[in-house]
Amino acid sequence: MTHHTASDWPALLDFDQQHLWHPYAKMPAAVPAIGVTSTLGSRIRLADGREVIDGMSSWWAAIHGYNHPSILQAMHKQLDTMPHIMFGGLTHEPAIELAKRLVQLSPDGLEKVFLADSGSVSMEVAIKIALQYWISLNRPEKHRLLTVRNGYHGDTFATMAVSDPENGMHSLFSHTLKQHLFAPAPHMGFDFNGDDSDIAAMENLLKQHHPEIAAITIEPIVQGAGGMRFYRPDYLKQLRMLCDRYEVLLIVDEIATGFGRTGQLFACNWAGISPDIMCVGKALTGGTMTLAATLCTANISDVISAGSPGLLMHGPTFMGNPLACAAANASIDLLLSSPWQSQVQAIEGHLKTTLSPLRQLSGVADVRVLGAIGVVELVRGDLGPAIQAAALNENVWLRPFGKLVYTMPAFNIPQHELEQLTQGMTNAITTVLNPSQP
Ligand SMILES: *Cc1c(COP(=O)(O)O)cnc(C)c1O
Repeated sequence: MTHHTASDWPALLDFDQQHLWHPYAKMPAAVPAIGVTSTLGSRIRLADGREVIDGMSSWWAAIHGYNHPSILQAMHKQLDTMPHIMFGGLTHEPAIELAKRLVQLSPDGLEKVFLADSGSVSMEVAIKIALQYWISLNRPEKHRLLTVRNGYHGDTFATMAVSDPENGMHSLFSHTLKQHLFAPAPHMGFDFNGDDSDIAAMENLLKQHHPEIAAITIEPIVQGAGGMRFYRPDYLKQLRMLCDRYEVLLIVDEIATGFGRTGQLFACNWAGISPDIMCVGKALTGGTMTLAATLCTANISDVISAGSPGLLMHGPTFMGNPLACAAANASIDLLLSSPWQSQVQAIEGHLKTTLSPLRQLSGVADVRVLGAIGVVELVRGDLGPAIQAAALNENVWLRPFGKLVYTMPAFNIPQHELEQLTQGMTNAITTVLNPSQP
């Protein structure tokens, strides 16, 4: 690889801006991306030489910080023996070991594992499994999905169709997207116990439409990209009962919440429920490689296998990539051997103490914290870029979107870096909302 020096960067960034799409971006990008050269723990080295504290864990993924030696070691070992091999007709230890871990750790009853290459694809597979299940039972009329508003399940076509109809891409692709059913979002608040009108609305839709509904899709406890909303475990418990009563499968999307982020290994555990189908991704490899998985029950796989065509009709080229599986195994082992529960609890306590005072600022609509997730919801939706820039001035990396300024640090972030992160976040928000204050 060519090694560039600081003086090469302006040209590199210019090429980037002219030729590389970034997530949800214009071409050329409205604002040039920031060059990065290396990562270590919760620190990111920028091309201009600055080192910043990471508040994003690369979108929920890097739960152990970057370059953790035990993950890197496992990856080096796998890289030297077999970085990839096709999964059609062949198998290998890293995939087998990963399936063992996922079956053992996931909620009871989830026994069959499909390894996919990204979160969106794992949700596509989940939806396909649900549809094939009903087709195999000779009930093809059960082909629609029911979900809640403010959800996010990915960027592919099947997953866009179950993501929030307002802040998602429904109007843009209305001619192409399948029309599914949307219940109101669960009431906001992990501790909410005011009323069950949200569940009642869900049950109404089920009563009316269950003969045509294949599955309900939902993110458990935390709705991520669709609004960073937290809701009560009892909602999930009741949803599980409704799915059983109305003969509808429950697909739970743990792609953001899985592997300890909310304070439980899986967010489902807060409600003590088992879904019929579950997706994991993001933190699965500790943020090192793209990999996701779809788990389902033996009953579902039995039905599909006994039906026609009798095969689950999916199989990506890079399915079960050994290098990614080796990284996932190392990341899971690292998580289980770490005091992650007390780490997440300590982060939760710190985020509550340091971010809650922001509620007093005019311009802040809400502050909420759950596990190692801290969210400051603003009144205005256009201040993200200014807050990101102000945070960078404090040597903190944040990536606000819309009204939401949020952080989900690595579980093992050192205390002084966590303090720098929340101080920087607080200063950035305060400066941007209150430019006249010292
Ligand atoms: C990120 C995310 C996805 C999509 O995963 P990708 O790997 O980006 O395709 C799906 N569901 C949830 C809840 C997510 O947070």
